[in-house]
Amino acid sequence: MATYKRLPVTFERGEGVWLWDTDGKRYLDALSGIAVCGLGHAHPAVRDAICAQAGQLIHTSNLYGIAEQERLGTMLAERAGMDRVFFANSGAEANEAAIKLARLHAHRRGIENPAILVAEHSFHGRTLATLSATGNRKVQAGFEPLVQGFVRVPYDDIEAVEIAATNRPNIVAILIEPIQGEGGINIPSPDYLARLRAICDREGWLLIYDEIQTGMGRTGRLFAHEHSGARPDVMTLAKGLGNGVPIGACLARGAAAEVLTAGTHGSTFGGNPLACRVGRAVLETLESEALIENAARQGDYLLTAFNEALGQIKGVVSIRGRGLMLGIELDRPCAELVPAALDAGLLINVTADRVVRLLPPLILAQPEADQLVQTLSGLIRDYLTDD
Ligand SMILES: *Cc1c(COP(=O)(O)O)cnc(C)c1O
Repeated sequence: MATYKRLPVTFERGEGVWLWDTDGKRYLDALSGIAVCGLGHAHPAVRDAICAQAGQLIHTSNLYGIAEQERLGTMLAERAGMDRVFFANSGAEANEAAIKLARLHAHRRGIENPAILVAEHSFHGRTLATLSATGNRKVQAGFEPLVQGFVRVPYDDIEAVEIAATNRPNIVAILIEPIQGEGGINIPSPDYLARLRAICDREGWLLIYDEIQTGMGRTGRLFAHEHSGARPDVMTLAKGLGNGVPIGACLARGAAAEVLTAGTHGSTFGGNPLACRVGRAVLETLESEALIENAARQGDYLLTAFNEALGQIKGVVSIRGRGLMLGIELDRPCAELVPAALDAGLLINVTADRVVRLLPPLILAQPEADQLVQTLSGLIRDYLTDD
């Protein structure tokens, strides 16, 4: 079905940060399949994991023990300081698990009509519950009636959370992105997450981070919330976890980890040996090749270089980012930059109308970073001076 307005290009092959289309033209991929291919394309560790596991065992269902699921679950829980993991097949599904967990937790404590606090300009997925949680009318329009039980506040506004806490006694959790991705690479104040943590502790709410876009090294730490030191009770992952093999995860600690018990939730495919073997290969490679450190270093480099190239240009409102999650906000809608970049052999994205979004692979090296800055800065300068 025509659910996407596709660009007029089809890729045939990839290697590292590069893609080749069906005419043999080469492109620098500064989007990674929307924050998915952190290890780039055709990484040998991912290829080998898929091939080896396909020759051994792909699926048996969750009716039986799954050694690869236990391995990946243990590794993720250890890194995140969490106790348990539920595996799903996508980001939206991971968030569904988190939403169900928060509601069941509330009902078990006698709260009849639980609500979850969510932010304006957030994105949590396209299923009915996750689009209802999403703070974007375009995602919701036409799919009413929406799922009830979400209370919306502006992002990065602690006062609004305090007012909601006073007026809405049925709130049981906050679901929030540590940095908003689809919403325009919105980085909150340095103390925002810590203050949310304090409110959750005071009110007995669960703090749920949607790290589907920010997680798996993207921001220069394994999980973006590590920049703040404010730990979640529940955290969701997907995109970068499988490098393109579908997988999602909902992690929880403490009391929150004991909520979903036998019969309360499930998935036929979730946590299958193939997806989990690949997830493990991704995590091991991020660590063994020091790619999270590389994301931090190249991200700093790109921020400085884009500031030098574009900081003084009229029409550039802000250049911001953390690690390899960057946004260049212009003073006007700029969707036209995407096909212009494509012509120039560069894959970028525009989100929230006027923010150029960059999510390059975490393996990005210096010469490729330089090429990205040079090509994109030229395109943005031309775009801003042309009209
Ligand atoms: C992409 C994304 C989702 C949805 O993930 P899907 O795998 O497309 O369902 C949810 N939350 C955030 C923050 C995302 O970036």
